Amino acid sequence: MEQLKQAILKQAGESWVDLIGFAARDRFDALEGAANPFSLFPEGKTVIMVGRRITRGALRGVEEGTNLADYSMFGQSWLNDTFLSQSTFDLVHCLERAGWDAMPVVPGKPSPGVDFAYAAVACGLAEIGLDGQVLTPRFGPRQRWHMILTDAPLASDPLLDRTVCDQCGQCVDLCPLGALDRQSSTTRLICGKTFTVAAINHELCKKCPNGVLGPADSLGQPDRTAMFCSRTCIEHLNEQGLVENRFKQPLRKRPAWRQDADGRPLPALDGAGKPVQD
Ligand code: SF4
Ligand code: SF4
Repeated sequence: MEQLKQAILKQAGESWVDLIGFAARDRFDALEGAANPFSLFPEGKTVIMVGRRITRGALRGVEEGTNLADYSMFGQSWLNDTFLSQSTFDLVHCLERAGWDAMPVVPGKPSPGVDFAYAAVACGLAEIGLDGQVLTPRFGPRQRWHMILTDAPLASDPLLDRTVCDQCGQCVDLCPLGALDRQSSTTRLICGKTFTVAAINHELCKKCPNGVLGPADSLGQPDRTAMFCSRTCIEHLNEQGLVENRFKQPLRKRPAWRQDADGRPLPALDGAGKPVQD
């Protein structure tokens, strides 16, 4: 089986996969019902999580407020439906050439209830940040995921041995709509790892005008990767050196635009998160 795993990893490299991790079935014992990916393929033995980066350039126009459309393609539809789908297909092909079933699973409506965030942690690739987003040491919140379920019994990868979120609280403190509440945080336990997650008012997020909201995930929660909260997190992680894909220049080059729930302008924020007065 180690030979097969190496063949999959080689194919992943050739198919521009940025993140790949393996978790055997026992890592999902705590997940009940539809949340457990093996509910889709009861004879499956292994989950493989496959991720590709959301390029930071795709967020540039959103951060500036000058071009919100390109993110919808390069950061959402094309990335998910074309680039990542091709990578996932290549890996499915690789497994099937070796004689194993391989079921591709995409997030959202095709896989209602499946907990992709749990799977990313179980595969040793990620953690859950204070803002509830899946964070990886390479990209923070900047990636999209597909999943492959296979009946090949592949060994689990080690769980992540470091943290990404430093609990800075900027995502909570600077949310223009006050949708995150640190006082009502909950603790999430996944494969023995515990994460503190602020309470999130998803209904407020669904009408948030501060970015480009993506399609709902398999749990029905909105994708906030290009929203003000996540862009603030991306900037913080880059500035503090907490991600590996680090940039020489900041994402936030000037006071960041913000709007209230009705789309009215709020005071922009400088790099330190302080309102800038006209
Ligand atoms: S902004 Fe800070 S507290 Fe919020 S998720 Fe990012 S690192 Fe964690
Ligand atoms: S999506 Fe908008 S309302 Fe929700 S946490 Fe992010 S900035 Fe706040």
